[in-house]
Amino acid sequence: MNDPTIPGGEFGLIAWIRQRSAPGGRVALGIGDDCASLRFTPGAEVLVTTDMLMDGRHFRLGEASPAEVGFKALAVNLSDIAAMAGVPVAAVVAVALPAGSAVAIARGLFDGMIPLADRFGVSLVGGDTNAWDGPLVVSITLLGEATSRGPVRRSGARPGDAVCVTGPLGGSLLGRHLRPEPRVAEALALAGLAPIRAMIDLSDGLASDLGHILDESGGLGATLDAGSIPIHPDAHAAAALDGRPALDHALGDGEDFELCLVLAPDDADRLLAPDPTRPTLIRVGTIDAGPGLRLRGLDGSVSALAVKGFDHLAPGGA
Ligand code: ADP
Ligand code: MG
Repeated sequence: MNDPTIPGGEFGLIAWIRQRSAPGGRVALGIGDDCASLRFTPGAEVLVTTDMLMDGRHFRLGEASPAEVGFKALAVNLSDIAAMAGVPVAAVVAVALPAGSAVAIARGLFDGMIPLADRFGVSLVGGDTNAWDGPLVVSITLLGEATSRGPVRRSGARPGDAVCVTGPLGGSLLGRHLRPEPRVAEALALAGLAPIRAMIDLSDGLASDLGHILDESGGLGATLDAGSIPIHPDAHAAAALDGRPALDHALGDGEDFELCLVLAPDDADRLLAPDPTRPTLIRVGTIDAGPGLRLRGLDGSVSALAVKGFDHLAPGGA
């Protein structure tokens, strides 16, 4: 589509993107034709994920720069590939740009996105460029490849398994949500050390996201240990601002983009032994046979834990 509302021209912009996107070994055909064409490892499962970020919902242009939005748009997709212990390969990027400042915003977006793509070995192989009389919307589809171990799903947890996370949680809205560090290398390293029974990336909050593992694993439950949840300094800062406990922020804020993974108890013991050559891993709880999420408080008492993750379609949420 030729969009005359983009000053400088849509095709000039695409040429600029094309020139800055490094070709990858798996790319038979990149930007410039009607489709991109990729070579995957014969027999490997191809992973596909997409995430859309909308001004006013996931960020506010002004508070967040276009470069930060571009970084985050790719990072959240990389986090989904990490959650399957997969290898990211190639991205396509669809943008709806606010007419008037379309090219400046697009350049910022790609300035934020391309170095992250390069760092993770992702080739930018195509997209779609539009301008309109509306706010910025960015949608990235990321393709990846499972290793020979296959993708790690949400569905393999068993009673007695250990629930672990890869880093501290909470308070991401104070700014960290704009610069998540996708745990791609960490997931691949951990998957090489032990079978990961189930995994999910923490986008909605530990309580909500662990709930998906429990549901997909056949209606299991879990008990989290309040004293073991790693609380990010940002969660304490958020608590000081709004008076809610830092633990609530750690359990419910979301957009941490750490991984939550479930391991057999003996594998967990082995991987939790201190070793600076391994990714950070913190045990936060145990899978239970009985459904429901529970929290063991610092005094040892166990209570039901309400799930407070974000739901776009909840009443008042959209
Ligand atoms: P078509 O009309 O056939 O869909 P386009 O004119 O939209 O083609 O795009 C031309 C080429 O530029 C295609 O290879 C497309 O994938 C690529 N492209 C368009 N917009 C972007 C973008 N924002 N980022 C990366 N590649 C893009
Ligand atoms: Mg097109």
